[in-house]
Amino acid sequence: MAESISIEAVSKEYPGGNLALTDVSLVVEPGSFVVLLGPSGSGKTTLLRCLAGIERLTAGTITIGATTVAHDRLHVPPDKRNLSMVFQDYALWPHLRVRDNVAFALRRSKLAKPDARARTQAMLERVGLGRLADRYPNELSGGEQQRVALARALVAGTGLILCDEPLSNLDADLRERMRVEISALVRESGATAVYITHDQAEAFALADQIGLLQNGRLVQFGRPEQIYTEPATPFVARFTGLSGELAVRVAGQDAASADSTVEIGHDGSALLRPCRARTSVSWAAGGDGVLLVRPTGIHLGGISAGDHHLTGTVADVAFRGRGYEHAIDISGHGRLTGVFAPFRAQRGDTVGLRLDPAGCHVFPAAAAANGHAARVPMSDVGPEFAPPAQQY
Ligand code: ADP
Ligand code: MG
Repeated sequence: MAESISIEAVSKEYPGGNLALTDVSLVVEPGSFVVLLGPSGSGKTTLLRCLAGIERLTAGTITIGATTVAHDRLHVPPDKRNLSMVFQDYALWPHLRVRDNVAFALRRSKLAKPDARARTQAMLERVGLGRLADRYPNELSGGEQQRVALARALVAGTGLILCDEPLSNLDADLRERMRVEISALVRESGATAVYITHDQAEAFALADQIGLLQNGRLVQFGRPEQIYTEPATPFVARFTGLSGELAVRVAGQDAASADSTVEIGHDGSALLRPCRARTSVSWAAGGDGVLLVRPTGIHLGGISAGDHHLTGTVADVAFRGRGYEHAIDISGHGRLTGVFAPFRAQRGDTVGLRLDPAGCHVFPAAAAANGHAARVPMSDVGPEFAPPAQQY
């Protein structure tokens, strides 16, 4: 049975005063697939280990299903929490055959031996390892070892599955296939899943809900679409994929619009004409802002039509099968990357760029100045999410 999770005001300080989690609160619905996303060191593993019971909380409460498992002095040990885990490094027993590694998860079940054996074999078949059941882990590839770990996590039918970057040690093509398998198998099991990754494309692909962690704080929790179209902070926008950034001056705010859009003037910016962008803050007219542009918020065209917001010079073009990905230099404003078009613009050409408010987010310049330290890992999957590396 799928478990709900309630994490309330959880903090974790490691010995030595290292504050890894600060006041994290989060509710996970039973049966949902939640991905915790954040850069290295943001506290993902710590939160997962607190959930699993491997770490003790410094403050806060964790409830799994109807049971409070961590609070003040209360600490329910991992094996009493009805959950299973999948780790980045597989964590298989080297001296046990594949079938025994998987059957190990059933040692506490009340199943009779033949039933446990049958269930183990069925699960191995399910993950495509039926014929490798008698091998040892060191006789398997990385992908096969991770399948064993997945089978071990699924076989006992726990209501909660925790995954700590299970795909990080796999090659790019295998990673994509395993991602689809994990998604299908975990969802089929009906368990609630909490999955952590630093790869934004993986998070967007897998999650029902994404929780974004920055320096031990949960900065946004929502559906992937929400995170992408309504990033709560500049950090969230940057970590989930931008073409680039433009310094702008906010000319005014449209009170009537549901989006609370602003008009952006061209003073001090590369903009030839005002454009609109989404914002979650109230502005005083004339405020300095930073326009964060998603790859979905920018369209490439000629300059003859005259409907463009800015012009730039094509620095690079890459054929991507379903289109052409351009890098465009904006005089005085650096480079925009990941600019897709169905046609190839030539290097050195002057082009016009039209901005689409749905993919443009404006934040106060002061707020946007923080969080630049958050380097985004380049993703192997989907250039839409690839950040402009040269800006960091
Ligand atoms: P992530 O999984 O997002 O990379 P971690 O949860 O592993 O982040 O780490 C969060 C912070 O806690 C980091 O600053 C890390 O150095 C620190 N940390 C992690 N484990 C320990 C530990 N056992 N002792 C002290 N500090 C730790
Ligand atoms: Mg980690």
